[in-house]
This record gives sequence, C-alpha cells and structure tokens, in this order.
Amino acid sequence: LVDADGATRPTIFAEMSALAARTGAINLGQGFPDEDGPAEVLEAARSAISSGRNQYPPGRGVPELLEAIAEHQQRFYGIRLDPAREILVTAGATEALAAALLALIDGPEDEVVVFEPYYDSYAAIIALTGARLVPVPLRWPDFQPDLQELAAAVTDRTRAILVNDPHNPTGTMFTRELRDEVVRLADRHDAVIITDEVYEHLAFGRTHEPISTLPGAAARTLTISSGGKTFSATGWKIGWISGPAELVDAVLAVKQYLTYVNGGPFQPAIAAGLRLPDEFFQALSEQMRAKSALLGEGLRSAGLEVSRPSGSYFTVADAAPLGVTDAAAFCRELPARAGIVAIPLTAFATTRNRDRYATLVRFAACKRLSVLDEAASRLARMT
Ligand code: PMP
Ligand code: GLN
Repeated sequence: LVDADGATRPTIFAEMSALAARTGAINLGQGFPDEDGPAEVLEAARSAISSGRNQYPPGRGVPELLEAIAEHQQRFYGIRLDPAREILVTAGATEALAAALLALIDGPEDEVVVFEPYYDSYAAIIALTGARLVPVPLRWPDFQPDLQELAAAVTDRTRAILVNDPHNPTGTMFTRELRDEVVRLADRHDAVIITDEVYEHLAFGRTHEPISTLPGAAARTLTISSGGKTFSATGWKIGWISGPAELVDAVLAVKQYLTYVNGGPFQPAIAAGLRLPDEFFQALSEQMRAKSALLGEGLRSAGLEVSRPSGSYFTVADAAPLGVTDAAAFCRELPARAGIVAIPLTAFATTRNRDRYATLVRFAACKRLSVLDEAASRLARMT
C-alpha cells in the first residue's frame, strides 16, 4: 500500500522481522509466539488433513467451527448466536476487518473512528475503502481516550467505530465507561461498532467483556476474533466475525470475492481449541501476564519507563529517560546496541499525530521466559 508520503513499502512487521533475521537480534517486534499451542489443536489439524478434509469448506465455515464459536461466546460471555446465520469464518481477523469495512463503507464522505495508535491494517484497509480515518488519541501512560475527544470525533458521517480491546499496540483494556460511551455515540449517530477482540483470552487477571454484551449494543456490533493468538497459531489465519444476521450477510457478500473460503483443515482444529476446558484459557492469560511482567522488569532496569499493560502481547516503554528523542531511530540502533528488535509506536499512528508518540516503543512479550530473560540481560548491558 502507498503510505502518506506516497511510497509503497512493506509493513512495519515485515521490515522489523527482516531486521531481526539480518542482525540475529531477539525479535520483540512482530507479535507472534515462539512456541506451539496446545497439542490437541495441532493433532486435530493433522487428523483433518489425513482424513481428507482438504477441499473448499462451506462458505460460512465448517459447521463444527461455527458451533464451537457459538458455544465459546455463550460459555465465556453469555452471548447467544445462531451458528447458521450470525457467524462467518474468515481468513484471520485481518480479512474479517477488511470485509466488514468494505461492506459498510459507501464512499469518501464516510468516516471510521479509530483509537490511535492502532493496529496497522486498520489504516490500510480504511484507505482501500476510500473512507476517512478519524483518529482519537490514546495517551501515555494509561492509554485511555478522552471521552470528549471521542464524542467530538463521532458524527453523522461516522459509518463505523473501530474498537480493539485488549488493545494492540498499547496493551490497554478500555474502561466500562468508555465502552458505554462508544455504544451511546454509535446509537446516537447510527454507526456500526466493529470490535477486534483477538486478544480476548490475554486479559490479565480479569475477564474480557465484549462490547456486544452492553445494553443496546448487540444490534449494531460486529465482533471479530481469531484463533491465532488464543491457540498460538498465527500462521493458520482462522478468524471469525459475528453479529446481526443482516450485517454478517453483508460481510459474507464481500468475503466470498476476497478469498471465497479459507483454511479447510484448520477450521476443525480451531473448533477443537475453542472447546478446550476453562483451565487452558486461564493458564494462557496467566502465562502471558508472567511474561509481560518479566519483560516490564527488564525494560525498567534498563532505565526505560514502562506502561502497565492490562492484556495483549505488548508492553509500551518510553525511551526518553535514556535521552532518546526519536524512537524510530532508537529502534534502528537497538539490534546493534542491545541485540533486540522492537517497534516504534509512531508506526501505528497517523502522520499528523506521530509527535505524540515520538519516544515510545512497543515490545512483544509473547516469547519463552528464557528468551525474555536473555532479552532482559541484553537490555541491562545496552551500550
Ligand atoms: N487485530 C489485531 C489487533 C492484531 O494484533 C492482529 C494480529 N496481529 C490481527 C487483528 C490480525 O489477526 P489475524 O492474524 O487473525 O488476521
Ligand atoms: N499482531 C502482530 C503484531 O501486531 C503481527 C501482525 C502482522 O505481522 N501483520 O505485531
């Protein structure tokens, strides 16, 4: 895609993973786990392949996955979904986001309200739809938005409000007050709420609460998630979107011409994952919390100021106490100075707001404890 300066370039994730590969640095840039997920899930994929489930699956997804998604939403959140009409399986959350926005946006007058910094594909997809991205800033160190700024951003031109909770890249989780305000504003301006909940099972010490469970929200909310993070299988790209049947139908109308269908044998495997006992999901978030705490300590001992993430793979640190004024330059030097790759927060912001995030860096904690230990000792020796 063409960036604000008119240049085509690889995503920040491709760029930073290539930098890690080239320098041999520990990759705390792109968020992906360095260990496989549950054996049951891996085995279910092998068994689906060897039992010949290798042709096009049905357009909405294989029935057992649709049913497992409905059961999962009921078990964790009390949400009741009709698996035949209110759920669609997609090629990761990325395709769900793209298809939802392509389905909803009519033209260049339409606006999409997005909390900034944001996951990079949001801006790219909004640009592809031709709509205007209206950013609402999240501020260091707690990354909660100002409710008045949110209210000012949502107007009758707003087609969708895009919420990512738990949040990438900041690790924040939004307050109930904020989520209520999103619902109130969407209702007042007749906008659709799109919520990206791919880190739903990586909330630390509390249960994630989907926006669609708030009063008045379900009728205008499209909820997106994915098996990538929950089952440590980011390469499988099995995602899903759920909500009112007519909205899901509109997303399906687009999805069928993007990928038609996807991930045949991985769909039953993710279904097996969604049916794992509660203990699996609890252990996942506890392990990520421990990793995140270890990374935070390492960054703090190295002299950075560290935010306190409530969930997700990510921790944001301020490098200003080290004398850094430009986090992008700092990240380019980090492989040589500390043998680590991380991502400047400016990569997740619109050009005009980049100054707000100038000294902030995102580190991914989704690595083995031994790797995070090594990263911490490298940070302590940083030159
Ligand atoms: N949304 C957010 C907030 C993410 O962090 C990611 C993963 N990087 C995605 C969507 C994409 O998920 P998937 O790999 O399932 O397409
Ligand atoms: N979710 C991961 C991140 O934010 C990776 C995304 C990607 O590679 N597109 O780092």
